[in-house]
Parts: sequence; C-alpha cells; structure tokens
Amino acid sequence: MTPTRLCILGSTGSVGTNTLDVVARHPQRYEVFALTAHSRTDALLAQCLAWRPRYAAVAEAQQARQLGAALADAGVRTEVLVGPQALVELAAHPEVDAVMGAIVGAAGLPPCLAAARAGKRLLLANKEALVVGGALFMQAVRDGGGLLLPIDSEHSAIFQCLPEDRDQWASRIDHILLTASGGPFRTRDPATLAEVTPEQACAHPNWVMGRKISVDSATMMNKALEVIEARWLFDLSPAQVRVVIHPQSIIHSMVVCRDHSVLAQLGTPDMRVPIAYGLSFPQRIESGAAQLDFATLGALSFEPADERRFPGLFLAWEALEAAPGSTAVLNAANEVAVAAFLDGRLRFDRIHALNRATLDAVLPEPGAAQSVDGLLDLDARARRRAEELVRSLAR
Ligand code: NAD
Ligand code: MG
Repeated sequence: MTPTRLCILGSTGSVGTNTLDVVARHPQRYEVFALTAHSRTDALLAQCLAWRPRYAAVAEAQQARQLGAALADAGVRTEVLVGPQALVELAAHPEVDAVMGAIVGAAGLPPCLAAARAGKRLLLANKEALVVGGALFMQAVRDGGGLLLPIDSEHSAIFQCLPEDRDQWASRIDHILLTASGGPFRTRDPATLAEVTPEQACAHPNWVMGRKISVDSATMMNKALEVIEARWLFDLSPAQVRVVIHPQSIIHSMVVCRDHSVLAQLGTPDMRVPIAYGLSFPQRIESGAAQLDFATLGALSFEPADERRFPGLFLAWEALEAAPGSTAVLNAANEVAVAAFLDGRLRFDRIHALNRATLDAVLPEPGAAQSVDGLLDLDARARRRAEELVRSLAR
C-alpha cells in the first residue's frame, strides 16, 4: 500500500498533536509530508525531529531561521518555509494527498480553501474557516472534486450516522441535534460570570482543547459556530440544525430522520476517534481512544440551552438568516473578544455584548460573501469595529 501523504496545518495544537498520535499508530498507512505552526517553534522542532517531514512552515522569518539552524544541526533535511502563502502552497502541493486543517481561527481559511480547490482529502477541524467561507467554501470543495471530512466531533458524529451516498442525505434528514456539554459554567450563577478568569473558562469538564475553543465552549459560542458549520456541511436550513445540552459528552450528536427514528454516535470524549475516521474513511482504524464502559457509564442526561445563560448560541441562527457574510462578521467579533478576554482586556460576560454589537454595526455589502477578498475585507472590518468596542467596553 502506498502511504497517504499528509500535510498537517496547525500540527502543534491540540488537534494537530492528536492527529500525529493517531498517525503514529499506522506507520505503513500515512506519511507526514508537511507540518506547520504559528508560534511554538520548539514544539514544531520536536515534531520535525520525530517525523522528518519534507517541509515545515512557521509564521515569521526569524522563527524560520532558528528552526532551520536547529534542524541542520540535527542533520534533518526538512525544508523550512515561512508565512501565510507557504501554508497555501503546502495545502495544495501536488504530492499531498490529505490535509488536516487544525489551525484555529479565520487564518485557516486561505490554506483550507486551497486544499479544497486542489481536490485534496480535507480533514476539517478548523470550523472558523467554514463559518467564514460558507457557500464559497462548499463550492470550492465541489469544484475541486475532493472529499471534505468533518473532524469536529459533533459533525463527525452526524457524518457517521448518514449514508456514504450524499445524494440521500436530504431525503433522509428531518433535522439534526448537536449535543453540547454546556461547558464549565452550565450550573454557575449567571450573576457571577463577570468574575470568570481565563483559567476557569479554559477548564472544560470533558475535553482538553486549545484556549480559544475552550473559551468558546464556556460561552457556547463554540456551539453557535458549530450550528453554522453544520448548516454548510450537511446543506441544511438553519431551522434543521438544533442543539441540546448533554453534560456527559458521550452522545456526540444525532440525526432525526424523516420517520422520526433517531440515530446517534457514541464514544468516549476523545478527538482521536473523529480524526481516525477522517483519516481512514470509509474504513475504520485503531484510534487509541478508550472504549465506552456501559457498566460504569451511569445516566446520560439532556436539557435545553438556556437563552439567559448562553445568549451567544442564539446568534448562530440570527447570523445565518441575516445578509450573506454575517457569519464572518460574528466569527471575527468573537475571535477579537476571546483574544481580549484571554489577555485580561475584556470581562467574560462582555464577550456576548461585543459580538452582538459588532453584528449590529457591521453590515456586509451585497456580494461580499461571493469572493475570498470580499470575505477577508469583511473580516478585517469586523475586527476593527470589535477592537474599538473592546476599548469602549473596557472603560
Ligand atoms: P490550538 O490552539 O491548540 O492549536 C492551533 C494550531 O494552529 C497551532 O498549531 C498553532 O500554531 C496554529 N495557529 C494558530 N494561529 C495561527 C495562524 N494565525 N496561522 C497559522 N497557524 C496558526 O487549537 P485546537 O484546539 O487544536 O483547535 C484547532 C481547530 O480545531 C479550531 O478551529 C477548533 O475550533 C477546532 N476543534 C478543536 C477541537 C479540540 O479538541 N481541540 C475539537 C473540535 C474542533
Ligand atoms: Mg465540537
């Protein structure tokens, strides 16, 4: 068997390292061709020493020089590239078979889009790329003729509950139910959310993840982004995407069929399961995840999402119903708000206020969502507005 050649965008992050963990279990099946990181070049160096990829890419020239020198000292012949354009080139490289999009934020859009256009097998964890790219992104996947495989655990669950033949999806689905854990503040008194620290917000009860998605889980903006992601991945109307809180994170999501039969995918909360499925689809390979033990599992419970506690969730449907491009505005606002919260410049309970105000203030021009440049302009405009709001809300 010729191994599948992988480009892992964001290899030093939580999803990136989980991907390498799965890949390490199947040395005959996969070959690591390219690894990329934004800031943690020490971690990228260690990965390059272990995996000896053909290419590595970092954000800045200074980092590239240091990494290049350290690799040369170790006798490793990985070529080091630099900057956002290098990510685009690696994602579309003719020798790459599959791309893992594990960058966080809209920064992942250009390389993920390049992979889609080049017809790669695209394993998409980077939900923000799809939230920003929307219809344009899905069109790129169709034009490229490749395969888009969801890595977000909820979307992988839906995908696993659907037939392989996509033409059957529409006639089969009544609606889908994305499960949400409710994050660390599901039962906390909402009146005390002003005092939340980054450490508290990042302490997720069931998953260990990057800091941005951890904060998004605490506000449930993560689920809002996932509602938008699901709308595009499965070509559903906004009303066909629903959310239920399921604190144990054992059922990863459900499909409610036309006949009201409900299909669910279950497993321990471990990202290696959706990653392994993305890598091996339509086959299944060992992931390293523990088995579910039904003897000790206990009860699975469900509750509706409370609008007072999690107002951010409801912005998803609002942005989907608003002018095309509005989901890009929401995403940009949220990226700015979360970064400001993590830097101590914005209170936790003001993240929603900032997202709400940016969505109201930045209206996409007609046609903005029809080109990448239009979307990136809109993203930049929303970020500027959101930064102004951070300054005014901090006062
Ligand atoms: P992370 O912060 O742990 O890692 C992010 C990776 O992207 C790092 O390698 C970092 O160097 C790189 N990166 C960051 N900013 C970049 C930029 N501007 N340009 C290029 N590279 C950049 O994040 P994560 O938790 O692994 O999440 C990655 C993506 O996967 C996110 O979109 C997240 O929503 C999604 N996701 C994560 C999980 C999870 O369990 N961690 C689950 C589902 C979906
Ligand atoms: Mg998820």
